[in-house]
Amino acid sequence: MARKDDPLGVTQSVKFNTRLTSIDTPEDIPAHWVDTPIADLIGAHNFGIEIKASGEPRMLISTCIEFRYRPAVPSHYAYVIRRASGRLIGSEFSLVYALSRGVKHVVLIAHNDCGMTQVSHHKPAMIAALVDQGWDAERAEEFVAMHAGRYHIEDEVDSLKREFYRLKRLFKRVEIAPLFVSLSSNRLHIPNWYFDYMKKPVSEKAGESSIPAEEYLMLP
Ligand SMILES: [Zn+2]
Repeated sequence: MARKDDPLGVTQSVKFNTRLTSIDTPEDIPAHWVDTPIADLIGAHNFGIEIKASGEPRMLISTCIEFRYRPAVPSHYAYVIRRASGRLIGSEFSLVYALSRGVKHVVLIAHNDCGMTQVSHHKPAMIAALVDQGWDAERAEEFVAMHAGRYHIEDEVDSLKREFYRLKRLFKRVEIAPLFVSLSSNRLHIPNWYFDYMKKPVSEKAGESSIPAEEYLMLP
């Protein structure tokens, strides 16, 4: 149900409407995602095609803790990691576990109006929440300051791009789909930068770099 404080759909938003591509028909799904769990997830969100659980873990979904959104997957279907901002930083072990269970597809889902773009605005209330839990005010401030830098994102589309490339360097062979959900419509979109990525030569796609893959665990 629409509420008056709902953010605009991303297709109406000046911030997003030139940076995302909508998926209006199954033909809009990139060919290499067809017949994969990624296409099934898009079908569930955009075309109302319910996913039938296979009983095996088919994919891993990483998305924000955002309370206005829930991935449209049944139980017995996907591993789901939900962290503020939706980035996987600090949860790589969970992804490795999913890979060891046969998962070959990862979906990163960003969204509009993410609270993590306004961490500095939320800081005082977060410190107050800790003090309310009995924390010393100085320790509360230190804790929030220390983690705020890690969780804060400047922009939802750019942060999705950076996290996608970071994960491609750590996990070269898993198919990673960056998607963007509009909170008002629950529809998934493809960030425009991904179409540039698709045109890149295979060596670049695999995240060839002189920096050892493990170093990408350390990036903020
Ligand atoms: Zn968020």
